[in-house]
Amino acid sequence: MSKIRENIERILGEIPDYVKLEIAAKTRDAEEVREAVEAGARFIGENYIKDVKKVYPSLGKIARWHFIGTPDTQKHDLLKNKYLEIFDMIETVDSENIAFDINEKCKKLGKVMDILIEVNSGREPQKSGVMPENTIELIRKIACLENVKIRGLMTMGPRFGNPEDSRPYFKETKRIFDEIKNLDIPGVEMKYLSMGMSNSYKIAISEGANIIRLGSVIFGPRKS
Ligand SMILES: *Cc1c(COP(=O)(O)O)cnc(C)c1O
Repeated sequence: MSKIRENIERILGEIPDYVKLEIAAKTRDAEEVREAVEAGARFIGENYIKDVKKVYPSLGKIARWHFIGTPDTQKHDLLKNKYLEIFDMIETVDSENIAFDINEKCKKLGKVMDILIEVNSGREPQKSGVMPENTIELIRKIACLENVKIRGLMTMGPRFGNPEDSRPYFKETKRIFDEIKNLDIPGVEMKYLSMGMSNSYKIAISEGANIIRLGSVIFGPRKS
């Protein structure tokens, strides 16, 4: 059995059924992604449109494609019809502007794009994501848009050697998630909480994640 298949099967056996395993596919080639999907991964997360350009033509819609990169720096490509059609969800919306842009383009396409709001749970200035205290305000501004649909939150959190150190950031994001859910804002469906990576997914699941995004634990160390 290949390493990729072995890793996917092991992790799928470990995690609860309601948790969706998304592969973080950056730098991986089409065959590696295909192997992971054939082994049972149903969600492909891509950070870079340039990677999508490389792997999508040979793979097509073998799984659900999620955008997990920074939208602002890749707007030019991401907002093309072709990529808006490929992606089933954009997990990293963190401003009114990008939400408005996606909404306008999707309106022309006749598509409603599922989005998550990315929360900068570590309040790290160099990182993307809306500050925790501004999340509700942002959601209230976007909720009325007809061609984007808010389905939950995503967070990265600071990177730590010790996964336990991530717990407070996951807890904080879950707290905001629950707070928004309880507000019952029309047009907002708080269903997905995307958090946890290779070293932290078990902690994230214990704090309420139902999408985990895994790269190196499946594919091995990142290629450059
Ligand atoms: C790379 C990446 C991951 C996965 O990272 P690993 O540590 O390799 O599991 C998850 N989410 C995002 C947004 C990423 O860019």
